[in-house]
Amino acid sequence: MSQKAKAPKGKRGASESKKSDTSQEENSNTKSLNPKSQEKRKPQENKRKSKVISDASSGETSEGSAKKKMMQEKKDFDVDGFSENIKKSRLSVATSVSDFKFNKKRVRLVSSEENLKDAALGIVYWMSRDQRVEDNWAFLYAQRLALKQKLPLHVVFCLVPKFLEATIRHYGFMLKGLQEVAEDCKVLNIPFHLLIGYAKDVLPNFVKEHGIGGVVTDFAPLRVPLQWVSDVSERLPKDVPLVQVDAHNIVPCWVASIKQEYGARTIRRKIHDQLSQFLTEFPSVVAHPYNSKLKAEPINWDNCYASLEVDRTVKEVEWAKPGSKAGMNMLHSFISERLKFFNSNRNNPNSQALSNLSPWFHFGQLSVQRAILEVQKYRSKYKDSVDSFVEEAVVRRELADNFCYYNKNYDKVEGAYDWAKNTLQDHAKDKRTYLYTLEKLEGGKTHDPLWNAAQLQMVHEGKMHGFLRMYWAKKILEWTSSPEEALRFTIYLNDRFELDGRDPNGYVGCMWSICGIHDQGWAERAVFGKIRYMNYEGCKRKFDVAQFERRYHPKKLAS
Ligand SMILES: Cc1cc2nc3c(=O)[nH]c(=O)nc-3n(C[C@H](O)[C@H](O)[C@H](O)COP(=O)(O)OP(=O)(O)OC[C@H]3O[C@@H](n4cnc5c(N)ncnc54)[C@H](O)[C@@H]3O)c2cc1C
Repeated sequence: MSQKAKAPKGKRGASESKKSDTSQEENSNTKSLNPKSQEKRKPQENKRKSKVISDASSGETSEGSAKKKMMQEKKDFDVDGFSENIKKSRLSVATSVSDFKFNKKRVRLVSSEENLKDAALGIVYWMSRDQRVEDNWAFLYAQRLALKQKLPLHVVFCLVPKFLEATIRHYGFMLKGLQEVAEDCKVLNIPFHLLIGYAKDVLPNFVKEHGIGGVVTDFAPLRVPLQWVSDVSERLPKDVPLVQVDAHNIVPCWVASIKQEYGARTIRRKIHDQLSQFLTEFPSVVAHPYNSKLKAEPINWDNCYASLEVDRTVKEVEWAKPGSKAGMNMLHSFISERLKFFNSNRNNPNSQALSNLSPWFHFGQLSVQRAILEVQKYRSKYKDSVDSFVEEAVVRRELADNFCYYNKNYDKVEGAYDWAKNTLQDHAKDKRTYLYTLEKLEGGKTHDPLWNAAQLQMVHEGKMHGFLRMYWAKKILEWTSSPEEALRFTIYLNDRFELDGRDPNGYVGCMWSICGIHDQGWAERAVFGKIRYMNYEGCKRKFDVAQFERRYHPKKLAS
């Protein structure tokens, strides 16, 4: 095809976003998947920017309008009203993604080929990290291409029956979420194909057999999914372009920064400066108008579940219902019940103040961007809480993606800064007062009742309170024979029991606690050196430790 704009390739650290989206005309016939080749205008996704949208507490004086406002607020707080308002917001920005000015900085070309071949029979969205239909920039981008080319759209998910240390707790959550995706796709006339095996072994064949013209995928910064993308890219037919869309971060990882950032203070401004450009409303995925001869094979989800080769001793949890709808309900309950306490109580494990959204964020069943758009509406009411939530869910979370993407040793002591490696080395031979095996730790059988309670909260509920995760990991450094062993045990336990495990946030959380990543040096002491220390007395000053210990006492859990 005629248009041949140069595209930066999807290499680590490449300055993908550096060149401006300059001169190409918006052309409905273009067959280029290269984001740089498609639009002439500056990205401007949406007339509604990320400003605070409602202010429930300002400007009303008359009794009548106050009452009206209260009624409206009540309706908005109702879970159905909440979902309805979100649907309306999506429709208000565009009738479909083809009428929408997609910000191409979210997209980068992975393959060397950028143009769709003639006579292509469809577009594939290879879903991986972002397992949802709505509020998913990768899905939207794939539909946009398919609509422009008047082609059918397919969603493909490649299911590996075994993945690192994942257990049925993780797989069960994921599969039930995917089942909802498949049902939603069916309603939208978009076949959902569940392929069993590694993407490199099954996806290229699928593409070849069915004449697929282009593949869109989402983005994860961890080494295994990066490898999957690279393997698929090598094995796809040379005339099939592959593009990647960061559908997980609000400011795409490669745009937020082109290097490993030192800490929150160095990435915060970079992210906030770009938020207004990226924190915009999403259009809806529409019923796809182009039918495919290729139908989705019916999926027997029970057989699929039964055939998984995973550890089934770590049970699924009751409180976290899988799927995007349940994620949206959790977001609604956070906004209506807990947001007001988020700033003041989020370090109190006895308080219900956290969002509890991490499992849905991790599996991509809920978009962080959606959560921020909704939470921000309450900024005039709960300014400190909303600002703290943005700091955690945007700045800290995107910092974690940044670290894992640019540091290949993101889960090893070698990945730490020199000051931290040196100080840990200086104290490697310090005497440890307690030494525990992995089995003792796993069973929550240490001398410290708070640590045991935190461990048992994680084992039984699949989610340890955020404040305690720091204390928990730091004690593992104190009670094991080396920082390397501490990191290994911590990551193993975290990824085995936390429903949100195997996430960049988790690797960074463990590295922060044990190796001082994104932190500074503190007063030197035994074992820790200059790594920040936490202790039981400090926890007692923050919250009612005894109450927490009673709640997760082994006898209580057994009854
Ligand atoms: C040792 C250790 C292990 C951790 N393991 C994981 C993990 O496996 N998976 C995981 O998602 N998070 C992990 N975290 C980060 C954090 O503790 C969790 O994201 C948070 O507790 C999840 O609960 P929530 O959704 O209710 O959080 P909220 O406090 O409601 O925060 C909202 C969102 O902000 C993000 N966030 C919050 N705190 C952090 C943080 N410190 N760093 C980066 N992002 C953050 C998360 O996406 C979270 O869902 C870990 C932290 C530590 C110290």
